[in-house]
Amino acid sequence: MPAFLSQIAEFIDSPVFGTIQIATLSYIGLLWVGIIIWVTRDAINRSQSLLFQTFSILINIAMPVLGLLFYLIVRPTKTNMERYYEDLERRLLLEGSAEKSLTCEKCLTLVEKTFTFCPSCGFKLKKFCPHCNGEFLSQWNICPHCGGEYGKPKKDELKMKVKSVRPRRLIAHRNKLPEKTAVPATEPLEETAQTL
Ligand SMILES: [Zn+2]
Ligand SMILES: [Zn+2]
Repeated sequence: MPAFLSQIAEFIDSPVFGTIQIATLSYIGLLWVGIIIWVTRDAINRSQSLLFQTFSILINIAMPVLGLLFYLIVRPTKTNMERYYEDLERRLLLEGSAEKSLTCEKCLTLVEKTFTFCPSCGFKLKKFCPHCNGEFLSQWNICPHCGGEYGKPKKDELKMKVKSVRPRRLIAHRNKLPEKTAVPATEPLEETAQTL
């Protein structure tokens, strides 16, 4: 037996080698447990799926280093918190733009609220209230400024028209009265007949 081989055999039998063995094994064991703890925490932070969390932990228990490599490849890129804040940011941005813009009824382009015509298709986005001349969206039928209905005269204006029409009709009615005295008289007719 060559000298160096017998030296190795002696070293393997020595208590020093036993200590090194124990130290190495405990180091690997600690690393293994550490990886499992880290993967457990990371999987919980990145996924809400119990299946994914269990799978990540089990694969790292079964295959200490390869499992970690595999986990690093398949884990979600963003944590739950990152996704939550991104979603929040997106929603806030959308709300902000919704305040300043509106969608064209015809071509669905997002346009500024101040626009009267759609720059994309030329659709008339606004119309003017016939009662108060206030500007409002084409799809609305009630004016938000005065409450008037688009395309219909306002209630007050209707009353005005009725008032202005009534006296003329009455006069016409009275003028016809002498001819119609034979007609079965209603109360107001009787009154007018008496005064005549
Ligand atoms: Zn348009
Ligand atoms: Zn109006």
